[in-house]
Amino acid sequence: MENLFGFDERLLEAARRAEDTLEGAFREIDETARECCEKVLYAMQKNRVSAACLSGTTGYGYDDLGRDTLDKVYADVFHTQDALARHHFVSGTHALSAALFGVLRPGDTLLSVTGAPYDTLEEVIGLRRGSGSLKEFGVKYRQCDLRPDGKPDLEAIHSAAKGAKMAYIQRSRGYSLRAALTVGDIGEIVRAAKSANPDIIVLTDNCYGEFTDTKEPSDAGADLLAGSLIKNPGGGVARGGGYLAGRADLVEQCARSLFCPGTGRETGCSLDTLREMYLGLFLAPEITANARKTGAFAAALFGGFGVKCLPEKIPQNGDIITVLCLETPERVKAFCEGIQAGSPVDAFAVPEPWDMPGYDAQVIMAAGTFTAGASIELSADAPLREPYAVYLQGGLTYGAARAGVLRAAQTMLDKGLLRF
Ligand SMILES: *Cc1c(COP(=O)(O)O)cnc(C)c1O
Repeated sequence: MENLFGFDERLLEAARRAEDTLEGAFREIDETARECCEKVLYAMQKNRVSAACLSGTTGYGYDDLGRDTLDKVYADVFHTQDALARHHFVSGTHALSAALFGVLRPGDTLLSVTGAPYDTLEEVIGLRRGSGSLKEFGVKYRQCDLRPDGKPDLEAIHSAAKGAKMAYIQRSRGYSLRAALTVGDIGEIVRAAKSANPDIIVLTDNCYGEFTDTKEPSDAGADLLAGSLIKNPGGGVARGGGYLAGRADLVEQCARSLFCPGTGRETGCSLDTLREMYLGLFLAPEITANARKTGAFAAALFGGFGVKCLPEKIPQNGDIITVLCLETPERVKAFCEGIQAGSPVDAFAVPEPWDMPGYDAQVIMAAGTFTAGASIELSADAPLREPYAVYLQGGLTYGAARAGVLRAAQTMLDKGLLRF
């Protein structure tokens, strides 16, 4: 095979050895993708997706067939009563925020059952400076930390659920070292919370989790899911947006919060976004599989160099993030430089740490992506703080993402930061 990128022969040999260990994992990933592809195809046929659904509306967006049909497709894919998939959600954080503000009222208590929530939600909840938070509107917050082994503390959840309006679950590891929750874990949380408080509403932050398993949190009893379309369910094709899926009354309330009370979801034109949202969802199971394979490859390759990689279980079910514990800021920067240099877009750029809004440490990000900030595309982020762990995710095609990971290893080797 031609060595277009001039990788060290010993690195290529290490890559082959790593892949030899991944046969079973790749087969498992392909099986999950096949089942999820069928789920999406079935939902599109059932809801009579037509060519007319692919072109959008302008202005107020009344009677937008493609938009309203897409909502039904999402609802069927997640086995929920209703859904809202819109480019009007500017990010996953916005979808989550609309869910929180849509459902919670003054005096209610929000209970996070997976420890501290994702960094960008701290200001939404009011855990940090900033106005307009839930706290300012009189919503109280409590938290059950995960156990030391990273699993939910079911007893603590059971006792804290009484009196709480909503239980909040983060499925993905996010920027943390704990493993993603499995759908089984989520089912146990739902049982622990609802046995103490049958009315509690379970919201799951499903970012990075979609199609990593044949079941979704909604199959395990979560009442509402939220996610981002520049991650898994957008399939690398959607240029923005987010979704909510869940109980019909809750989705309706969230639509009133996202848009406005009264007109709610009847307005909100789709412009030219529908074709990419349909096509992206159609591709999403396979794209997610490619991202999972990329993560598994990176863990096997860097594990062979003695780098501690998480999760230890390959393939993981629950999210598409692989953590590489690189231990020093120099190694983190070199890794990210390599991922950037191995990207299809902006490969010539060099990533620098910066003060990213919503995050409390400097962050370095490598993302040579077709859609700005799309982390379903090969990308790496690292907050520059102990333990100097890099979070690697995405990869639209395995072949290109594999080359990107090799480029990261080669960059570290060239700088003497990795040794055979
Ligand atoms: C990406 C992500 C979010 C939302 O982030 P945005 O960048 O606003 O889309 C929330 N929670 C988790 C776990 C995430 O991975």
